[in-house]
Amino acid sequence: MKIIMLGAPGAGKGTQAKMIAEKYSIPHISTGDIFRSNIKNGTQLGMEAKKYMDQGLLVPDELTVKILLDRVAKEDCAGGYVLDGFPRTIPQAQVLDNALKEIDDKIDFAINVDVPDENIVRRMGGRRACLSCGATYHIEHIPPKKEGVCDACGKELVLRDDDKPETVKNRLDVYHQQTQPLIDFYEKKGILRTVDGTVDMKDVFAAITGILD
Ligand code: ADP
Ligand code: AMP
Repeated sequence: MKIIMLGAPGAGKGTQAKMIAEKYSIPHISTGDIFRSNIKNGTQLGMEAKKYMDQGLLVPDELTVKILLDRVAKEDCAGGYVLDGFPRTIPQAQVLDNALKEIDDKIDFAINVDVPDENIVRRMGGRRACLSCGATYHIEHIPPKKEGVCDACGKELVLRDDDKPETVKNRLDVYHQQTQPLIDFYEKKGILRTVDGTVDMKDVFAAITGILD
């Protein structure tokens, strides 16, 4: 099963994608995590991507598309995957579509996690991320067992630079301009499913599994 997660930054795509990946035993692929890991390791790609990420802008398609296509070509993706944070533009979606068509394949579902902008700003300020293993928490809704420490790997949790309020505003603007049109794009293909992302994460997940099962 090949699944795309759509939704504003902070809507809960990553939270749900990890649960989907576990339940259906498919890889969770987050382009944001790939960029952050490159930044942490000081690669050329990481240094280039950081310039855009720090401003809340999208990394250019030329850089993003290649890393995604390389990743989904790996053997562990043969049985499907859940994409989190890709595609974020219509050209990215078209490149993915064409690459899949070439191997006589397609995306099964685009799940749109719907959360209004007002809720997003609050959520992002409370998000804490582990830059080591990619786990995310929320200081109120989904707190780690020990404050500031990742449950999964024991490393430090941080407020991402791009989750600071001034950058969140830019990211929301970018979302509305460049990413939201994908909702229409997948609606026209008949594979869009929208779930209410404002409810408890377990209820969001129940709605998603109701669609996928
Ligand atoms: P995205 O991947 O869409 O940017 P995340 O999955 O990282 O979003 O979620 C953003 C923040 O909101 C995180 O701190 C996460 O723990 C929290 N969160 C996710 N789902 C919910 C939910 N249903 N209710 C409340 N908080 C949530
Ligand atoms: P995320 O972890 O999905 O919130 O992504 C964090 C940041 O990484 C985004 O604000 C973008 O700057 C960049 N990014 C992640 N995925 C993409 C993508 N598909 N296209 C362009 N930029 C991306």
